[in-house]
Amino acid sequence: MNVETSVPLAPLTTFRIGGLARVYIPIHTEEEAESAVALARDRGLPLFVLGAGSNILIPDSGFDGVVLHMQMREMTIEDRGEHAELIAGAGALWEDVVDAACVHGLHGIENLAGIPGTLGGAAVQNIGAYGAEFAPVFAYADVLDSTTGAKRRITKEEALFAYRTSTFKQHSELVITRIALTLKKNASLHTQYADLAQVVESGVALATPADVAKVVRAIRARKFPAGKDEGTAGSFFKNPIITQALAASLVEQFPGLPTFPLENGMVKIPLAWILDHVLSLKGYAKGPVRLYEKQPLVLVAQAGARSADVDALANDICARVYEATQITIEREVETISAR
Ligand SMILES: Cc1cc2nc3c(=O)[nH]c(=O)nc-3n(C[C@H](O)[C@H](O)[C@H](O)COP(=O)(O)OP(=O)(O)OC[C@H]3O[C@@H](n4cnc5c(N)ncnc54)[C@H](O)[C@@H]3O)c2cc1C
Repeated sequence: MNVETSVPLAPLTTFRIGGLARVYIPIHTEEEAESAVALARDRGLPLFVLGAGSNILIPDSGFDGVVLHMQMREMTIEDRGEHAELIAGAGALWEDVVDAACVHGLHGIENLAGIPGTLGGAAVQNIGAYGAEFAPVFAYADVLDSTTGAKRRITKEEALFAYRTSTFKQHSELVITRIALTLKKNASLHTQYADLAQVVESGVALATPADVAKVVRAIRARKFPAGKDEGTAGSFFKNPIITQALAASLVEQFPGLPTFPLENGMVKIPLAWILDHVLSLKGYAKGPVRLYEKQPLVLVAQAGARSADVDALANDICARVYEATQITIEREVETISAR
């Protein structure tokens, strides 16, 4: 196990913001994960698990504890008759997982192509895009409880996936080491989502999961910042889920506001629409951080921006949204916290 100290975390995140890790350990095997967890416990230091750093804002003060950087990337695909099981290390890059599924003609995650991050991060966040979510393909995860060092298997029922959350997010003591996905050999493709439907209507034939993944990546490339000179962690806030009464009064106040009724009687509304049509905040900047011109839910940070700059803009946006709509919005991007 390779243990380093005072390691800059900013380059390990897509925001490219944040200070040093007191202790940094790259994790390539389950044994290394166990040793790293034991080291943190022995030294009485908090622990943080880092994937590809694409949904995290690291404070300027860094992290005064042990960062486990997940690099476990082995992957196998096993035939189970009507479906296949893809089993991979939690540090496997999500794009590699999608590619492996597509190469084998397996269905279920093609609409999630192009999302940065690791397989572990995908489970924590229950990633979603283009009408699909991670939850339906999840079979199980092998985890290490960092408080006890015990190993366990979390089943689909125990994972408690919901909009951008899961058991793994609620129980940050769990270090995911391996995940299994159930992928279908035959299934219909989901191309109803507006952007995909437009492509189909324009005459492009989408026959395989690989076809869908290719189109989704092309659509995404037009929507997100290219990321070479600027940092981002994608959508910074969650879309709010509100009561029917509040949704009805907002639709009256702001005609055209799209609403998406949920099974539990609540209503999801697109925050980007509010930021754009109600508050006219596309491109709104505070210092080196701004709301992306093409998608105001995305915060973009210029090189040299600090986490305090991101917090300042994010808090400003929360206050403006509340003032206009009485909605308290929540961050989708996490701030590093101790385990
Ligand atoms: C340009 C861009 C576009 C994006 N688009 C989307 C999108 O369309 N849909 C969407 O849902 N998300 C999107 N995201 C957000 C992000 O890609 C996902 O949330 C991704 O799954 C995060 O994975 P990660 O490995 O980078 O996690 P990190 O950012 O490294 O970590 C996120 C959280 O997961 C925890 N974690 C990571 N790995 C493990 C593990 N092995 N065990 C325990 N905990 C772990 C971390 O401790 C942290 O709490 C986007 C981000 C960017 C930058």
